[in-house]
Amino acid sequence: MRVHNFNAGPAVLPLPVLHQVRDELVELPHLGQSVMEMSHRSKDFEVFLDRAENGLRRLLGLSDDFAVLFLGGGASLQFSMAPMNLLADGARADYLVHGSWGVKALKEAQKEGNARLAATTKDAGYRRVPEETQMTLDASAKYVHFTSNETIEGVQWPREPQTGGAPLVCDASSDILSRPIDIEKYGLIYAGAQKNIGPSGVTVVIIRRDWIEPRGDLPTMLSYATHAKERSLYNTPNTFGIYMVGLVCEWIESLGGLEGMARRSGEKAGLIYDAIDASDFYRGFAEKESRSQMNVTFRLPNEELERKFAAQSEKAGLIGLKGHRSVGGLRASIYNALEPEPVRVLVDFMREFERENG
Ligand SMILES: *Cc1c(COP(=O)(O)O)cnc(C)c1O
Repeated sequence: MRVHNFNAGPAVLPLPVLHQVRDELVELPHLGQSVMEMSHRSKDFEVFLDRAENGLRRLLGLSDDFAVLFLGGGASLQFSMAPMNLLADGARADYLVHGSWGVKALKEAQKEGNARLAATTKDAGYRRVPEETQMTLDASAKYVHFTSNETIEGVQWPREPQTGGAPLVCDASSDILSRPIDIEKYGLIYAGAQKNIGPSGVTVVIIRRDWIEPRGDLPTMLSYATHAKERSLYNTPNTFGIYMVGLVCEWIESLGGLEGMARRSGEKAGLIYDAIDASDFYRGFAEKESRSQMNVTFRLPNEELERKFAAQSEKAGLIGLKGHRSVGGLRASIYNALEPEPVRVLVDFMREFERENG
C-alpha cells in the first residue's frame, strides 16, 4: 500500500504518471525499448524532449523568446551558473532573501559577481517575505533574484515582488507549475524537478533568449549558450527525467493546468492552516500573509510533543512530516501531486493528536 507522502523532495509523484512509467519501463509502445536505453540523439528520444519542452511551454505560456533547458547539477548549480552567465562586465544583481535557499543563492552569487543583498527578513526569523517598502533596489540592476517559495521555512511570495523594472530571476524549485505566473516579468526561472515536476537529477531552466550570450571564458558545461545551442543535448542529459517531466506536464494539463493546480493547492493548504488557526495547540511558523501553499510549517507546544507527533504520524502511514533540522517542528509538503485525501487524513490525525495530548 502506498503511504501518505508529505516528503519535501524528492516527493510524491502523480499516481497515473507512475502507472504509465511502469507500463512503459521495459518497452515503450512500438519502440521495443525503454526510454533509458535509447540514444539521446535519436529521433525517438526527440519526441520525449519535445513533449517535456512543449508541456512547459503550454503551461507557462512561454513564447519563443524563451529557451527551455534541461540540465544537471540541481537548483544548487544554478545558484552559481546564473550569476556566472549574467553578471559579466560588472553587471549588478539584487537578491531578496527570506530563507535558507535564498541565503545559499546569494552566497554563491557573491563569489561570481556583483550581487547585493537588497532585502532580508533574517531579523524576523525568516517567517515572512520582505515588505516591498523595505527593499532598496538598484534601478540599473541586471536582475532581481528571489526564491518564490522557501521550502524549509514554508514561506512563499503571494505574487511576484515589484521591482520597478529589473527583470526577475527566480528559484522556483518548490512551487513551479503550482500557480499561474506573469512570465513577462522574468528573465530566468530555474527549478530542480524533484519537488513539483518529476524525479531528481534534472533541472529545468527557462531563460530569455536575448540573455544567452556565448561565453568563451566559462567552462563549456557552465555556459547557458552551450546548452541552448544544442537543445540540452551537448552532453547526455537525464533522459528518463525529461521523459517524466513531459508526463507530469500532461497530467497537470488534464487537471486544468496551473489554475487547476492553484485551486487544488489552495484547498489543501487551507484545510491544514484552518486546523492550525482553530487550535492553540498548533502554531504556524510563517506569518499569515506569507504562508506557503506548498510547505506548511508548524510547531507544537514543545519539542517532545513534536517528536511524538512525527513518530506517531509515521506509524499511521503519514510520512515525511518531520520539519527540517534548521527550523524544527513539523512540515507538511503538499506539492501538486499530493491528492486532497492524504491532507484530510493528516487534519484528522492532527485533531486526534491534540485531543490526546492537548
Ligand atoms: C530543494 C531546493 C533547492 C535545492 O535543489 P537541488 O536540486 O537539490 O540542488 C534549491 N532551492 C529550493 C527553493 C529548493 O526547494
